[in-house]
Formats: sequence, C-alpha cells, structure tokens
Amino acid sequence: MARVWNFSAGPAVLPEEVLRQAAEEMLDWHGSGQSVMEMSHRGEHFMAIHAQAVADLRELLAIPDNYKVLFLQGGGTLQFAMVPCNLLRGKRSAAYVQTGVWSEKAIREARLFCDVSVVSSSEDRRHTYVPPQSAWKQFDDAAYLYYCSNETINGVEFNWVPDAGEVPLVADMSSHILSRPVDVSRYGLIYAGAQKNIGPAGLTIVIVREDLIGHAVPTPPTMLDYRQMADHDSMLNTPPTYGIYVAGLVFQWLKRQGGVAAMSQRSLAKSRLLYDAIDASGLYANPVAKPDRSRMNVPFTLRDPSLDGRFLAGAEEAGLVQLKGHRLVGGMRASIYNAMPTQGVAALVEYMRDFERRYG
Ligand SMILES: *Cc1c(COP(=O)(O)O)cnc(C)c1O
Repeated sequence: MARVWNFSAGPAVLPEEVLRQAAEEMLDWHGSGQSVMEMSHRGEHFMAIHAQAVADLRELLAIPDNYKVLFLQGGGTLQFAMVPCNLLRGKRSAAYVQTGVWSEKAIREARLFCDVSVVSSSEDRRHTYVPPQSAWKQFDDAAYLYYCSNETINGVEFNWVPDAGEVPLVADMSSHILSRPVDVSRYGLIYAGAQKNIGPAGLTIVIVREDLIGHAVPTPPTMLDYRQMADHDSMLNTPPTYGIYVAGLVFQWLKRQGGVAAMSQRSLAKSRLLYDAIDASGLYANPVAKPDRSRMNVPFTLRDPSLDGRFLAGAEEAGLVQLKGHRLVGGMRASIYNAMPTQGVAALVEYMRDFERRYG
C-alpha cells in the first residue's frame, strides 16, 4: 500500500528513511541480537543510544555546556506543572503570555502553584496574532516569563524572541522545535513533546539552564524534580527507550539533511507554497496576521463550511489525511512538520486548487 500524506498535528509524520531504518533494526539492533524495545535501559547498548541522542540534539541546537538535556515523560502537559514546581524559586508569581490554546492550558495549570500575571493576551482577536512586546505589562518581579512559541491549534508563531532581561525565559516549543535555529542561551528553559516535530509520542525533551535546577518547591514528588532527573541522567526510572531511539534516528536524519538551517529554509518554502495558495483563492482563508503565521501548523477555512465534509472526503481519496481542523477552531489544519516533504505540500495545494475549480 502507498503511504499517505499525513497532515496530523501530532502524533505526526516521521521521515520515511527513519521508519525504514527502524524496521531494518527491529529484530536485531547492530548485531546485538535484540530489538531496542527489549533492551535494559541500563545496558551498554541502550546507554550508547541515549548518549548519542543527547549529543546529536546538543549539536543540532548548539546547546551551551551550562544547559542540561533531559528526556522525560508526561508530555508537554506535565511541563505545565513541572515548570512552576521547579522555577518559582521562592517567588509568588510568574508571568505568562497568552496567545492561544496551549498557553491558556499552561496558565490554568500554573495557577495551582502561584499567582499568574498574564502580561499580554491575544484573546481580543481570537488568538490570531502575537501582541508586540511594547504592549506587554512589565514582569520584573516574576519568577520567569513563559510563552508558547508556536501555538499548534491557532497556527500562530513567534518569529522573534521576547526580551526577558534578567528574568528566566521559558518556552513551550513542542510544535516547532528543530524547525529553525534558536539561540538557546536566551532561554532559562525550553521544552517540547516529541510527537509533533521529532518522533513518537511518550518522550518530552527539556533543555534547562543549570542554575535553575535544584530550587523546586519543598518536597516535590521525585519524578517532578528537575534536580533528580538531571542527577540521574534522565534515568531515575525506566525512560521511554524506544521513543528515545527513534528520536535519535530523527536527529541523525536531520544532520544528514543539513540541520536546522536547512529545515528552516525548507519550512519557509513549504509554508509559503500553502499560504500563497490560500491567499490567492476565493474559497480558502487563513485568519492569522501575516507576520505571525506558523510555518508548521496552517489552519484554513472554506468560505462555505457546508463544503467541509466534501473537501475532507475528497482529500482522503487523494491520499491526503488528517486535515480536519481542531474542534476549537473549526475548518481545516495542515501540519507540515520537518518530516513532511515539499511534494506532500504540493499535492495538497494541487488538490485544493482542483477542489476550488469544481466547487468554489
Ligand atoms: C501538543 C502540545 C502540547 C501537549 O502535549 P502532550 O504531549 O499531549 O501533553 C503542549 N504544547 C503544545 C504547543 C502542543 O502542541
């Protein structure tokens, strides 16, 4: 059977090359006579896989030496709690930028731990833009400044890094990590669930500056303490071994493709192709302010929503799947992560044009 073009927001498309390699190594990893799934996480084989994945991620993002890379579980959602649990450092409040569904969820969770100061919100225009920092409230007293740098559901992406001064900057990069270069040194902490732009679900990556580790609320649950996780090299308990292995294969694939600089060019070109098609049409529309449009998650609506069902059914027949928009936004959404080839986006654009000729 031919593979489909998968536009799912996550779990999402993986590079075919990586899937083939994982399949080849399934029964016997590098002459070990075992599948990675069957290995002890403390054995030499898996320790090597783990160490290589950390080293490759460090290289891809040029992560400075004073940052720890942690491979955790619990998804982005657990980080909504782990961040305040660890970074409040005795302070009473934290500052949050509200730009869509995912930052809203993070705000709700943080309120279990502290006062949340929402320094800016794009709610007034249904989260279709990024408010400029000049319009934000000040946050000098906050324990940290938190934002979601790519709002997966709303299709809004920060194309700039907030200036947090001396306040540690925290970013949820779940849906666009590794799609563009990032100056890690400007951040206190970056996290990302793997199932969007990296690998299979079950792995969460945390990149945290060392001086921010070790100040958790009194008696944090062991599994929620960055200190414990860092001291045990993310192996306090059994880590998501297979997820780490596949993420590692993706890191190697990214290096062969030319790293994040190449991904950045590619995602610019791919997203342009799609946005240009939307903007040139009389049938499709994207509500997001142009400078703030996500290169990874492209929501769009049909002028006549009664055509939605027909659009999706036809797309499926053409091998273009998972285009239904999030229930909170409606319409369609095409997620075009690193692993989505330009060809897949071109196939979508062709289908959209054809559909408009017939029904527009
Ligand atoms: C998907 C997503 C999350 C939540 O991830 P889970 O792994 O399901 O907890 C958080 N933030 C962003 C930006 C996401 O896209």
